[in-house]
Amino acid sequence: GLCALTSIAAAWEQWLIALIIIIAVLIFRHRRKKNIQTPSLWGIKFDNVSMNYAISKARGLISNPETDTAQLIVTVNATGMELTVKDPKFYEIVKNSAMILPDGAGLCLGLKIMGSPVQERVAGIDFAEQLCRAASVEGWPVYFCGAAGDTSRKAAEILSKKFPGLIIAGARNGFFDINDTKIPEEISKSGAKILLAAMGQPRQEKWVYMHREILGKILCVGVGGAFDVLSGNLKRAPVWVQKIGFEWLYRMIQEPGRWKKNLPLISFVFRILASRIGIWHAPSRD
Ligand code: UDP
Repeated sequence: GLCALTSIAAAWEQWLIALIIIIAVLIFRHRRKKNIQTPSLWGIKFDNVSMNYAISKARGLISNPETDTAQLIVTVNATGMELTVKDPKFYEIVKNSAMILPDGAGLCLGLKIMGSPVQERVAGIDFAEQLCRAASVEGWPVYFCGAAGDTSRKAAEILSKKFPGLIIAGARNGFFDINDTKIPEEISKSGAKILLAAMGQPRQEKWVYMHREILGKILCVGVGGAFDVLSGNLKRAPVWVQKIGFEWLYRMIQEPGRWKKNLPLISFVFRILASRIGIWHAPSRD
């Protein structure tokens, strides 16, 4: 019995090696010229910006809004890309947003494999923090909406200690009926110039989009689980873990219940390889 098992194991190894060689050959044969245009993936065009430039672009959106309705900045990681493939409504919202920032090591690697790398990863949580720094200098009030209990208030208070002068227009939890118009009305009345929406993707983006007219002139940023980290409730992975691309594993260890949330990472990897060798194409929607 043991003998049969070891020979099956050996056969598996050979298949795996053969598969890796086939994929490597296909990727090599389909090698593309470096794309110096906008990095894009499956119809989503990323802003190829440094953190500093992203912040100055955001400043522009606040001081010279392009519309009377709320403007949205989205941060997209590998899981977010999977959502754009599976959820046409989310795809539309992302595509029409004011800025699309590349978040996550997996996404950046995916863009590189596809031959259109971004110059820098701009993580939502870092962007939110830098935006609060700018807001504290400019006197732009910030509204914190999302996460459970008083997490948003804790996050707001920690940030206002870090950036003295930061005006907190309001803070509230993210567990409410997304069709309720009272909350966007309150946010609009609060005088906030910036809204950090931390209710998870795609909920936060769909909510902002749904109420963009009520929200009025305000710059909204979808920041996912950022308040849990900014409030100190959860710890972020050390920088070296972020750099080697294992922040998701660190998060999964802290919140073991999250493992299911990482399943899209697996399909993302397969989708990247499949689209790289040309056997899968994103649904065309334009
Ligand atoms: N969240 C919320 N309202 C909801 C569901 C979730 O405010 O109805 C919050 C949750 O408390 C967490 C944040 O959304 O702080 C992000 O959730 P998750 O980690 O699931 O999202 P991701 O980081 O994957 O975008």
